[in-house]
Amino acid sequence: MQDIVRVAGKQTGPSGSMVEPRACKYCGYYGHTRQHCQTRLRDEEASAEAYVLQWQQEQMQLQEERDKWKRDEAKELPWYQRESQEAWFDELGVPWYRDKHVGALPLSPGKDGAQGKWVWDGRTVKIADE
Ligand SMILES: [Zn+2]
Repeated sequence: MQDIVRVAGKQTGPSGSMVEPRACKYCGYYGHTRQHCQTRLRDEEASAEAYVLQWQQEQMQLQEERDKWKRDEAKELPWYQRESQEAWFDELGVPWYRDKHVGALPLSPGKDGAQGKWVWDGRTVKIADE
């Protein structure tokens, strides 16, 4: 630019200072500064949008994890909070029968009459339908 001024027969610009065209420090183009750079504004808007999107996604993931954790917690009851004694025997692989006074009781080895998921097969236990 200084060469152009020199070719024009002058040493300085109209204001008397050295002619130094200010190129945008962001995009490198002349005619505007970084402050008014459309490229910068566009990039910043895009990255702000991307940031918001990423934040929303993270929040959704966190919520999903919290929901899953709650569901898992509800599934995993302590031993004294089984859905029922029958369910617990079924879970532990214990053949059981229902006593009319007491409720579910373990069935003695080798006996018929199991009412749950497991039955005696001689001295071993198997799933009822097998
Ligand atoms: Zn620019």
